[in-house]
This record gives sequence, C-alpha cells and structure tokens, in this order.
Amino acid sequence: MKQMYIDGEWVDAQSKKVRDIINPFNQEVIAQAAEGDAEDAKLAIAAAREAFDHGEWKDTPGADRGRKVLRIAELIERDKEELAELETLDTGKTLEESRADMDDIAGVFRYFAGLADKDGGEVIESPIPNSQSKVVREPVGVCGQITPWNYPLLQAAWKIAPALAAGNTIVLKPSEITPLTTVKVTELMEEAGFPKGVVNLVLGPGATVGNELAESHDVDLISFTGGIETGKRIMQTASGNMKNIALELGGKNPNIVFADAHFETAVDQALNAVFFHAGQVCSAGARLIVEDSIHDRFVEELRVRAERIKLGNGLHEDTESGPLISADHREKVENYVEIGKKEGAHLLVGGARPEDPELQDGFFYLPTIFTECTTDMRIVQEEVFGPVLTVERFQTEEEAVKLANDSIYGLAGAVFTQDIDKAERAAAKMRMGTVWINDFHPYFAQAPWGGYKQSGIGRELGKPGLEEYTETKHIFRNVKPEPINWFK
Ligand code: NAD
Repeated sequence: MKQMYIDGEWVDAQSKKVRDIINPFNQEVIAQAAEGDAEDAKLAIAAAREAFDHGEWKDTPGADRGRKVLRIAELIERDKEELAELETLDTGKTLEESRADMDDIAGVFRYFAGLADKDGGEVIESPIPNSQSKVVREPVGVCGQITPWNYPLLQAAWKIAPALAAGNTIVLKPSEITPLTTVKVTELMEEAGFPKGVVNLVLGPGATVGNELAESHDVDLISFTGGIETGKRIMQTASGNMKNIALELGGKNPNIVFADAHFETAVDQALNAVFFHAGQVCSAGARLIVEDSIHDRFVEELRVRAERIKLGNGLHEDTESGPLISADHREKVENYVEIGKKEGAHLLVGGARPEDPELQDGFFYLPTIFTECTTDMRIVQEEVFGPVLTVERFQTEEEAVKLANDSIYGLAGAVFTQDIDKAERAAAKMRMGTVWINDFHPYFAQAPWGGYKQSGIGRELGKPGLEEYTETKHIFRNVKPEPINWFK
C-alpha cells in the first residue's frame, strides 16, 4: 500500500480511503494507494509552511542544497530499472521510453543541482549618490506542484528539482491514476535526507487535493502541468492570495513539411511526432501541414508505416507503442474520431480498436490518420491527446506558417526543409515556445520549455525554470544617512 509523505512521516489518508492503481495494458491492479482529500492536503501544506518559515532549508547555502539535489539524481540512476518498470506498469508506455525518461529525469536533477549556487545576486548602478543597490533572488516559499499522468515522473522532476535547488518547500500531487514513480522518488528524497517538512507528498484527486493546493493562502506558488480547462480553473482559484503561477498546458502542435525536405527523414519524424507514446504527449505533432506537390506520396508512406506500428505490452522489448491510459480517455479519443468523420475529414487509416485478441484487455487504439482536413474543423483545432493525425495541404510558405499559427495553442512546432533560410524564416514567425528545425520532440534540461498563447504561463527547465521558483528582491542601502528635511 502506497502512503503519503507528510512532515517526514509515511501516513494513510485521514479518511482511510484507498484507490486501486491499474495497469492500462491489462486492467490488473498493480498497487493500492492512499486516497487523500483536502484535509490531508491541509496537513501537508502546514508542514511545508512550518519548514519554510522556521526551518533551515531556505538558508542552507546553495552549494549544500545542490549537493542534496545531486544525491537525488544519483539515487534515481541507482534505481533506474525499478523506476522504469514502475512507470511502464503505471502508464503502459514502452520500457525503452521509460528508461529514456529516467535518464532525462536524472539529468534534470543534475542540471538544477549545478545551478543551485550560481546566482549570487547582482550589484546594480544606483543613480542616488552615497548609496548601494543590490538585487538578490530568494525562494518563493511553499510550492504546490500538480502533475499529469502522461509523463508522471518527468513532469514532477521539472518541478521538484528547481524548487528544492532554490530553497523552497514543496507539496507534490501526482495524477491520482499514476502516482507510483512519484511515491518511489519521494522515498529516494527521504533517503537523500531533506529536513522534515521540506518535501511532502499528497495522493488523491484534483478536485479535492489539487484544489486545496490552488486555494490555500499558505501556498505561495502553484505549478501545474495538465489540461487547459483545469489550468484555467487553477488560475482563478489561485487568485485568492495572488499566488505565483506556472502553467504547462496542452498543445495542438503543427509539423510543416516543405517539398524540399529530406523525404525519408520527414516521414519518419512525422510518424514519431504524433504516434510516440500513443500520441499522449503535450508536444505531439498532431497537425501535419504538408506541401501540396508531395502530399499524396507523403501520406501514402505515412499510412504504410502507421499500419506497421506494433502495439503491445510495454514490458516486451518488441512493442513499439502501448495502450491509452484509461477507458475514459479512449472514449474521448473515439469521440473525436467520430467528430472528424462528421466534419468531412477523410479517414485514411485506423479509426478503430485493434482486433488482436491479445490486446482486448488493454485500452488500445489504432494509429489513425485523417487527410483532407481544414483549419476550421474541431479535429484540427482541439487537443485529442491520442494517436490521431490530421493532414492539411499548403501551396506557399506564407500559407504554411498561417496554418501553423491558426490555433489557440502555442506549445511547440516543427519545420522540415533543406532550405535553411526558409526554415529560419518560418521558425521566426511561428508563435510557439519551442520550434524544431528538421527534427521533432527534442527537449532537455538546459533549454526552457513552455507555451505561448493558451499553452501556458511561465517556463520550466533552463535558467528560467529556476527563476520561476524565486522572488526577486532589491536591497537599497543609504551609506551616508542624514535627514532629508522634505517636511520642514
Ligand atoms: P488534467 O488537467 O486532467 O490533470 C492534471 C492534474 O491536475 C492531475 O494531477 C489532476 O488530479 C489535477 N487536477 C484535476 N482537476 C483539478 C482541480 N480542479 N484543481 C487542481 N488540480 C486538479 O490533465 P491530464 O489529463 O492528467 O494530463 C493531460 C494534459 O496535460 C494534456 O492536456 C497535456 O497536453 C497536458 N500536458 C502538458 C505538458 C506541458 O509541458 N505543457 C506536459 C504534459 C502534459
């Protein structure tokens, strides 16, 4: 039974409620987890508040904080196989993906550990005679951190590592359906030896635990990764005490392919862009925008490759893609496919559950491609978050960029061409937090990640990812104090 971690103790939910954690490949119960609610969240917030206000963590030198954060990276590397297997059991993703996640996660902890002692503040030129001015960065305080189910530990790492490196205290809330690796890493953080109350973990639903984190006036910052509607609700709730907010929301990411792109590379990358992790990726390249002159050849090659994708058990080495996360989520994807058909998009391939008897207990859905799509269709505009690609055509560079930008989202996008000037021109005009040229998906700890438009507020990773977890303070000193006699 997976418990919560509050004020340095492993505890059950106050209500004693428990939730079954399901493997989406076969619906087997793989664990049970405490099911907390607002009362448990309140206890965790109080512990984090006390540890921040009266504990030693925020005043610990950056070099020492960095050493502790680095220790987490080392422990993750030590337990990589166990963590990867847990992530695969909990999410259905392939073991190869989970292992790659764990490498990235350790890298994120290493990166922020290295930044922990690099910002000594700045002395600035004061326009006032006989004065000194300096700018320092301090931890924000108690941080509520809410994560989704698609990259459970990766998304948590992007939040935990900078928050701790900067000297904050945290209350983590993983998705209620995929808490297992976050529980395990909380054990590793206990092993690393943080002071009591610095790290807290509350398990349970968004409507109770998550809402309490967004609402509580004892929380100074809320960092959320998840869907756009939840993000909007959290933003409203967090306004009660004007919390700092960081929101990493969805995407409907365009992938522009010009006729002069390297054909095999562009096809291969377009396939990976949308069908990796069954499309359950915020930066999935779900909108293919392809130049008219190569359209037919390109989609035919994509169809052939999409039909070959091997669905199966994520634990088996030959599996290329796992199931969707839940029955509800598969229904949502199926509903979008129906919408696409009704809107007049042409279903080229997929559009159904697989018939393979071995896959019947899992939440599988076939890789699906719609052609003849237009920008006014819901299937083109809304985030499906599943293995569904829409294809639009273009004639001119200007038209390609216009189609790419025609979205409420602005998370990421890509452009494929061998004309580097054209690529740079398009990248400059694309309204997204990340633009890839002749590639799709790379992200790493050193580069900031986040969205334009409704894809979010703020940045994770990179130096901005640490700055999110700091407040900036200007300290002004009059070195020759004397009366100013403004009032006689
Ligand atoms: P979700 O919004 O349903 O849930 C995310 C988290 O929020 C969960 O922990 C959930 O329990 C919690 N939550 C739900 N309601 C809440 C409320 N009222 N108050 C506080 N917390 C609440 O999202 P999901 O379905 O778990 O994840 C999929 C979404 O996440 C997709 O839209 C995807 O694009 C997005 N995502 C974005 C990024 C990014 O980096 N931008 C990364 C991964 C996923």
